[in-house]
Amino acid sequence: MHLYGTQTIDGQGHLTIGGVDSVDLAKQYGTPLFVYDIQLFRDRAWAFQQTFEDAGIGYQVAYASKAFSSIAIYQVASQENLSLDVVSGGELYTAIKAGFPKEKIHFHGNNKSLDELRMAFDEQIGCIVVDNFHEIAQLKLLSEQLAKPMNILLRVTPGIEAHTHDYITTGQEDSKFGFDLNNGQADLAFKETYQHEYLAVLGLHCHIGSQIFDTAAFRMAAEKLVAKMAGWQEEFGYRCTVLNLGGGFGIRYTEEDQPLEPAEYVKEMIGTVKEVSVNSGFTVPEIWIEPGRSLVGDAGTTLYTVGSMKEVPNVRKYIAVDGGMSDNIRPALYGAAYSSAIANKAGHALTETYTVAGKCCESGDKLIERAELPQAESGDILAVFCTGAYGYSMASNYNRLARPAVVFAENGEHQLAVRRETHEDIVRLDLDYGIKAGHE
Ligand SMILES: *Cc1c(COP(=O)(O)O)cnc(C)c1O
Repeated sequence: MHLYGTQTIDGQGHLTIGGVDSVDLAKQYGTPLFVYDIQLFRDRAWAFQQTFEDAGIGYQVAYASKAFSSIAIYQVASQENLSLDVVSGGELYTAIKAGFPKEKIHFHGNNKSLDELRMAFDEQIGCIVVDNFHEIAQLKLLSEQLAKPMNILLRVTPGIEAHTHDYITTGQEDSKFGFDLNNGQADLAFKETYQHEYLAVLGLHCHIGSQIFDTAAFRMAAEKLVAKMAGWQEEFGYRCTVLNLGGGFGIRYTEEDQPLEPAEYVKEMIGTVKEVSVNSGFTVPEIWIEPGRSLVGDAGTTLYTVGSMKEVPNVRKYIAVDGGMSDNIRPALYGAAYSSAIANKAGHALTETYTVAGKCCESGDKLIERAELPQAESGDILAVFCTGAYGYSMASNYNRLARPAVVFAENGEHQLAVRRETHEDIVRLDLDYGIKAGHE
């Protein structure tokens, strides 16, 4: 059994997270329950930043918060001096509510609404990552109407396919995101913006994929983007100062995954950017990165209670838990694999293979196809590891299940970060119907 971050197995054979007995957490807060190891988040944030500090290079590490967005995690990110990526008015609102420093907020998205853009101007956030020509037109209009400045990065697709699952690839040319770097779109976007009265082009952005395990694709992207910025300086005499290379650093969901240390990706990026810059006579730009999954993914564990069990003779044994695709859509959406343990039997020998099923009315609602576990019984607490990214943030009320609570554990203390939904919450948007049938 692989333990993540601060996890241990205590004297009773219970899994602990952040110095807290996970079985006690399940008892106190109920299940399903997301538990975040906040020390692990802090350590990762520090590892990324320390690598830039050591290299003496300008940087921003922005938490790509679509992975897990809540007021409390934004406050931890702020304590750790991170910047913040938001992708909607809702995430931006959450950041403002959390008191996150506005000048360190970056706004992403391929179809930002006029209201969302206006909000970005009203709050005077750090920068908008511009995705397309429609957005450029809107930004020009808005900034002129409001007479307010805005920093922008131009998002480009460099035509690099990173090692990843097709559904979550965004770096290739056939992508809904960004200006194509190779066919002239990026040049046109630059020409349309760099002399604008209110828009300040900081530089280029790309995000080449997710769950990436090697550095080659990042190095290729860095080369192409620095070359482009150097080219613009030569041609237009305008110097971009920021290169944002996105996120996508892989984590270990199961023993099949062998990620590098976060620092390794950053070291390679820095090396490449410095080398290409020096070779092309370009001042080394600031490097910005946007880790999401690698900050919160393995920091999060979901605790479930085992309920019913079913054996299909000679085929498999099912154990069913009190959540499922409503709190973790990734297995059903793209076959994502997870590892697990029985939190109250963490020291026991792994003698059984179970399929872990959710409780949703959907045959595809299986969390783990083959989980190697001790003999399970109803009432056991099942811990599914690495659910911290794209778990709660993709949760739904499918089957009108209430979304779980989220607890942060750190230094032997624990605190509710998002309360569990109630049945009242489930109907809070519903209205009675008042129009009478016409045939009466
Ligand atoms: C989703 C996303 C990220 C974060 O990706 P991870 O795989 O979670 O690290 C970073 N930048 C952009 C633009 C994204 O869309």
